[in-house]
Amino acid sequence: MAMVASAVASSSMSHLRFLHSYTFPRFESGQVQLKVAATAKVVMYQMIPPSSSAAPLIPTTVDVNLGDRSYPVYIGTGLLDHPHLLQRHIKGKGVLVVTNTKVAPLYLDKVIHALIVGNPNVSVESIILPDGEQYKNMDTLMKVYDKAIESHLDRHCTFVALGGGVMGDICGYAAASFPHGVNFIQIPTTVMAQADSSVGGKTGVNHRLGKNLIGTIYQPQSVLIDTDTLNTLPEREFASGFAEIIKCGLVADAEFFAWQERNMDALMARYPDALAYAIKRSCEIKAEIVCQDEMESGLRAILNLGHTFGHAIETSCGYGEWLHGEAVAVGTLIAVDMSYRLGWIDNSVVERANKIIKQAKLPTRPPANMTAEMFKSAMALDKKVADGVLRLVLLKGPLGNCVFTGSGGHTGVP
Ligand code: NAD
Repeated sequence: MAMVASAVASSSMSHLRFLHSYTFPRFESGQVQLKVAATAKVVMYQMIPPSSSAAPLIPTTVDVNLGDRSYPVYIGTGLLDHPHLLQRHIKGKGVLVVTNTKVAPLYLDKVIHALIVGNPNVSVESIILPDGEQYKNMDTLMKVYDKAIESHLDRHCTFVALGGGVMGDICGYAAASFPHGVNFIQIPTTVMAQADSSVGGKTGVNHRLGKNLIGTIYQPQSVLIDTDTLNTLPEREFASGFAEIIKCGLVADAEFFAWQERNMDALMARYPDALAYAIKRSCEIKAEIVCQDEMESGLRAILNLGHTFGHAIETSCGYGEWLHGEAVAVGTLIAVDMSYRLGWIDNSVVERANKIIKQAKLPTRPPANMTAEMFKSAMALDKKVADGVLRLVLLKGPLGNCVFTGSGGHTGVP
């Protein structure tokens, strides 16, 4: 990993014009000091068994405030048992639920029931796509359009994404483009999707030459996070989502990072209250950033910490070999290592980042067969390289602060 960080920091930077810190008017010296309003109480969790999961009548809500594209993110246990939370965001009569072969047997019937119970005017179709990152491509996207057209859906319908980040990204892109944009609801069912990908509107698919190279920003009408769905998530997929939760603490909220350090055992044991807090805080941080820079002309890029390295791993290894969160975890540690080598953070941050990623059962080292040259060639095709400038997010100063390398904005999916 050190080899990768130093190789990227030295040799490639001569032509990538490295280290142009991004300057925001309200920040000093190109340093991003995001102060996210601490609307949620920081809670210490004790190692006690989870209580019964009686569904709350009023869910916790994080509002994404984007003017006429604002939407609520409902978070809580048992929310799929409250049909009104879904039905109030349906527009038109036709609904298409987009899900996959793994999630459909678990939750499709429940979601269809929640959509139609007491709601006779709505007719629900569903499409069950193949499961996996390797199917996040144009061929799979085309299957969604096929189903929508065969079902005679028009621009007044609603698409519902049911599943992890892959379903959300594919369904969201289909909703953005069929026929010129339809109503869209996210029902995320992985930690990755609940804490990150369902919020903020990035949608899209992979290209064989690079991750998420085809996409757009299209906000949903609502996000319904039923944390009970995490009970069926396999260990590896569960852990994967924590890469993004840890990232939020590193780039934007040192207090949240410290809370995670204290509570990672409870999180890994899936204590509902701890999980709900981690998801809510991550959504709040993302919402606050997205509301300031929806189109990623600047600030939003801080959410890409570790992603350029991570995407290189995912693309080089073949989609699906390394989970997105696993690749982001290693990418984050490479970025942390680079930040340290540049003298921007002290060793305690490096140690804390490594420790928490291990606690979250995520990998800390890149694939053994991946050389610095492989990183550089994959990164050269990443959309974060434009006009010869590599845009990386690195940490600088006390925990919770970061800088951009390169300048200017870009569009695309993290
Ligand atoms: P995923 O969607 O592939 O889900 C992981 C696995 O868990 C899949 O096999 C899935 O079918 C299964 N699964 C989902 N929910 C389940 C449940 N409740 N119980 C049992 N199994 C379940 O992967 P992911 O980690 O959720 O998301 C990764 C994707 O998200 C990547 O493509 C990444 O690029 C994208 N992403 C997008 C954004 C964004 O802002 N749009 C942000 C982060 C990640």
